[in-house]
Amino acid sequence: MKGNAVVVGSGVGGLAAARALTQQGWSVAVYERSPALPRTGTALGMWPEALAALDEMGVGDKVRGAATRVSEAVTAGLRTPAGRTLVSMRRDGGLCLVSRPTLLSILADGVDLRFGHKVEDQRGLAGVDLVVGADGTFSDTRLTVFGAQFAARPLGAVVWRGTVDGTVSSYGETWAPGAMFGITPAGPGSSNWYACLDAGGTFKPPHRQHLRDVFGSWRSGVTEVLERIEEESILHHELFEAPPLPSYASGNTVLVGDAAHSMAPFLGRGACEALVDGAALGRCLGNAATVADGLAAYDHQRRTKTQRMAAMSRRMGRLAMMRRGFVARNTAFGAAGSVLRLGASLRGH
Ligand SMILES: Cc1cc2nc3c(=O)[nH]c(=O)nc-3n(C[C@H](O)[C@H](O)[C@H](O)COP(=O)(O)OP(=O)(O)OC[C@H]3O[C@@H](n4cnc5c(N)ncnc54)[C@H](O)[C@@H]3O)c2cc1C
Repeated sequence: MKGNAVVVGSGVGGLAAARALTQQGWSVAVYERSPALPRTGTALGMWPEALAALDEMGVGDKVRGAATRVSEAVTAGLRTPAGRTLVSMRRDGGLCLVSRPTLLSILADGVDLRFGHKVEDQRGLAGVDLVVGADGTFSDTRLTVFGAQFAARPLGAVVWRGTVDGTVSSYGETWAPGAMFGITPAGPGSSNWYACLDAGGTFKPPHRQHLRDVFGSWRSGVTEVLERIEEESILHHELFEAPPLPSYASGNTVLVGDAAHSMAPFLGRGACEALVDGAALGRCLGNAATVADGLAAYDHQRRTKTQRMAAMSRRMGRLAMMRRGFVARNTAFGAAGSVLRLGASLRGH
């Protein structure tokens, strides 16, 4: 079927949904409260499912063309702050990394995108066949449709992240009780980093000195990154997740991306799942006779999978930063290295 839709939010999820619906012949307007798309952002690792969704939306090759494929084998792993390897990982297939601003601008090409337009009340969007809530972790659409009990909840962790120039001698994550530090390639000449603490709220700047105080005595790869971090490039925020919803659709309103399933970032999957949501929504509505049928099919295809992913991601963060039992965990990792190598290959970082 075809119809007209309003998409609230022009993040990865909103733009993917807009593209996919447009492809199916829908008339779509995207309302974005910000004045423009972001010009800066860190690199996102694209999982095969996300690349397949981009192919379905007709922009897979464009994204691959703009992405950095880290083609040489990347040796990463899980380590302790002292540098002991708990699990080693090797990715020989090449990792496809794309910067968030680049991904957004490719998705936005040809989309009817209206900046500076904050949707105050989704119930006021009368007269459209479909409202797509793609308004992120703190989605008003989610609250309006499902109630305040589905407000995003803090995960009890904070993150700092950014990109530094140059490659690093070793990638991967370093796990300690209550803290972790991750480093990934971001391209031939840059590296992504992220640091987490199991603390609530946010910390006041300056952040670089604080990061050096906490992580400055950790293994060499971490200290290499710390030396290159520039204060003004640090992103810092508290981590939240959305409680599992009973449905991703209600009436003619549907949720995609973080609005539907905002998850802890420890599997690096949120943006990839938002792309898969968008493609699935377009396909389901294109194949359906009514909006209700299309949204039921979308909910069926996406809710269980993404809620399972969110639970896994939360558990991964807890495992990484566990304060009790970490000695036993590290011992078990050593004993079960091959099993963990399999699990580790499921991760985006
Ligand atoms: C530390 C960290 C690391 C991550 N790393 C990765 C990774 O490596 N790989 C990966 O796949 N994912 C990663 N993610 C997750 C990923 O960033 C998100 O899942 C993804 O950006 C969600 O996209 P979205 O479009 O659903 O929401 P958002 O990107 O939050 O977009 C929502 C949009 O809606 C707009 N909006 C909100 N309210 C309104 C309103 N009322 N009216 C109009 N506009 C509105 C906002 O301005 C915004 O533009 C990470 C997340 C974090 C926190």
